[in-house]
Amino acid sequence: MRHLTATFLALVVTGLCAAAELPLVKVLSTGGTIAIRYDPVQKGFVPALSGEQLLEGIPDIKTVARVEVESVATIGSSDMTPDIWLKLSRRVNEVLADPVVAGVVVTHGTDTMEETAYFLDLTVTSQKPVVVVGAQRAASIKDTDGPRNLSNAIRVAISPEAVGKGAMIVMNDEINAAREVTKTSTLDVGTFRTLEFGKLGYASEDGVRFYRAPLRRQTIPLAADTRLGRVEIVMHYAGADGRLIRALLKDGPLDGLVIAGLGLGHVSSAMFDAIEEVRARTIPVVISTRVYTGRVLPLYAAKGSGVSLVKIGCVEADNLSPQKARVLLMLALTRTKETRELAAYFDR
Ligand code: ASP
Repeated sequence: MRHLTATFLALVVTGLCAAAELPLVKVLSTGGTIAIRYDPVQKGFVPALSGEQLLEGIPDIKTVARVEVESVATIGSSDMTPDIWLKLSRRVNEVLADPVVAGVVVTHGTDTMEETAYFLDLTVTSQKPVVVVGAQRAASIKDTDGPRNLSNAIRVAISPEAVGKGAMIVMNDEINAAREVTKTSTLDVGTFRTLEFGKLGYASEDGVRFYRAPLRRQTIPLAADTRLGRVEIVMHYAGADGRLIRALLKDGPLDGLVIAGLGLGHVSSAMFDAIEEVRARTIPVVISTRVYTGRVLPLYAAKGSGVSLVKIGCVEADNLSPQKARVLLMLALTRTKETRELAAYFDR
């Protein structure tokens, strides 16, 4: 009997030691479809699952990593705000400063996930992996993609290959870089894609494998007193005449403006006049495009085209989408308002 007890204790101690040697991942939860269930009373999906409950869906992960969870917010990602970005990024930086933590996973709604991921890409100072993950199918749906995505995200967070690659989105067994990825489908589980350059690699139970690295990365560290200004996005469409821009100027204060222009970054001559009024107040304007891939470039000279916009001090967004250009502009504005210096942030 005594012999059996000793054997049992030895097994428990061995098991505990093995668990203690596993890498530690911190999961910061913010809400989103990955954590919602259908509520028959409200006849719709509502936030339901804590971070701990999300982990209950992937019991096997215990053999791969030690996982600790912490809630940062419980929101649909349409309620994500720059203030929550600041809180989240500061927490990610604190957590990653702990030498025992291998990486961080952020659970998040898919709707604004790419913006949060890019904000973290720009503001997290550690080389350790930051993985943002969500689901397209709610936790109460039989074939929800949440548990699989979360399991893969944790595997990427502990992967040595993921170190130095910044923030990434891991969904549908694919790894995509924060700067490059966008939500491409309202319902498809393979919604997150890097349309221009393709995924970085794959993640599944069989392993994590990278095939390329994101090269255009920069870091704009947050200070303790960093505040983000008000930066709005105005889209161009046939007949757009700049009245929304003038309304923004009236409503103030406006710290920066991003234009989702046409093609290479063009606007109508009527919208150009409104942008000129913004520039006359020395408010920075960044020109992006509503086209899904490719850079904006000042090739055409007509009023409203790139050459004329650059001439009045607008900054070109390279190949950043309007929503990502806004994230970068908000952070760059914490350092400078000067056109040439702002342009340098968009050239890196
Ligand atoms: N509405 C959800 C959100 O929080 C959608 C999702 O998570 O997929 O973005």
